[in-house]
Amino acid sequence: MAPKTWGLSKEEARYRPSAKPEVSCIACTWMFPRLSVGSCKYVRGMVKGSDTCDEFEALHSKGGKT
Ligand code: SF4
Repeated sequence: MAPKTWGLSKEEARYRPSAKPEVSCIACTWMFPRLSVGSCKYVRGMVKGSDTCDEFEALHSKGGKT
């Protein structure tokens, strides 16, 4: 189930630096605006485009996930 909007702290989402650009915030559905620093629908506070967390969902997911 999707978390509530801004329902997660960075600790709860296991927010962390990302080793791979394709699974970082900048490539995630939930970042806005999708820049080097922005916000996230689920994780409170500023997020960096180069970081990631457990709620990552690919922007161009081909899996048909809703
Ligand atoms: S990877 Fe996590 S913190 Fe980053 S935009 Fe996606 S949901 Fe938010």
